[in-house]
Amino acid sequence: MSPSEPVPVALIVEDNADNMLLTRAVLRRAGYQAVEAHSAEEALEQLGNCTPDLVLMDIQLPGRDGLSLTRELRTRLDLADTPIIALSAHAMADNQVAAADAGCDGYITKPIDTRTFGGQLAAALEARKSRSAAL
Ligand code: MN
Repeated sequence: MSPSEPVPVALIVEDNADNMLLTRAVLRRAGYQAVEAHSAEEALEQLGNCTPDLVLMDIQLPGRDGLSLTRELRTRLDLADTPIIALSAHAMADNQVAAADAGCDGYITKPIDTRTFGGQLAAALEARKSRSAAL
């Protein structure tokens, strides 16, 4: 990344402190500035102050869940094209379909493996790019 390029911002929506720490560390290593939210409500607050280049969305959140939040974010013009990657402890295909239906571009299963997370993220972003190019 050249010094003149702005640092991309990633919004992490995650209620678990350990997962937040890991996700933040991996995203920073991938060159993102991390903005944190521990609930859907906090995420909406953060989105009043910043427009992220990427959203990492935990599905299981206290109160309003990540799928409901994702559906709302997809109605916002400023976020219509922002990649949203779901994070979930559930590996079942049904859950992945539900995430895709809500508007998520990718699905990463927890627990996060710091050795593979960067690659999973890059693959999800790449898959999204080729989908938009095909449109
Ligand atoms: Mn959670």
